[in-house]
Amino acid sequence: MKRKIFRKEKSGYTLGLIFCLLGIILLAVVVWKIFTDMSSSQSLISNLWSYLWTQQIDFPLGASFKLIFFWGSGVAVLLTGTLILVISHKWFNVSGGNVWLTCPYCKNRWQTNRAKGRVECPHCRQFIQPQVMKTS
Ligand SMILES: [Zn+2]
Repeated sequence: MKRKIFRKEKSGYTLGLIFCLLGIILLAVVVWKIFTDMSSSQSLISNLWSYLWTQQIDFPLGASFKLIFFWGSGVAVLLTGTLILVISHKWFNVSGGNVWLTCPYCKNRWQTNRAKGRVECPHCRQFIQPQVMKTS
């Protein structure tokens, strides 16, 4: 029963984790660049802000991005990922208020938003008077 709920939330959690991971990677690139440059320039820490704005990482095909871009998008993506995780966690708690119905014929259980008057069992197609069991 718990696994069923978990599977529903999984996509939200996965998306949030992917965003968090992407943000961490972007920030790690910046930190890595700072650390590799720190050995050559000792004054880097005091000029960290201007360093972020002036230093850039070059990519193939002539593209280059300033470190501040990596830093900014890294923070933004990380925050987005955290937000997605929080929202899907909230939604998880809300969906915990859903009801579980048990079919008296085939003894299967399934989840529905709210109990209606008569529902069709998705397993054996019998119309049943639902016996509501709340999960919380
Ligand atoms: Zn049934």
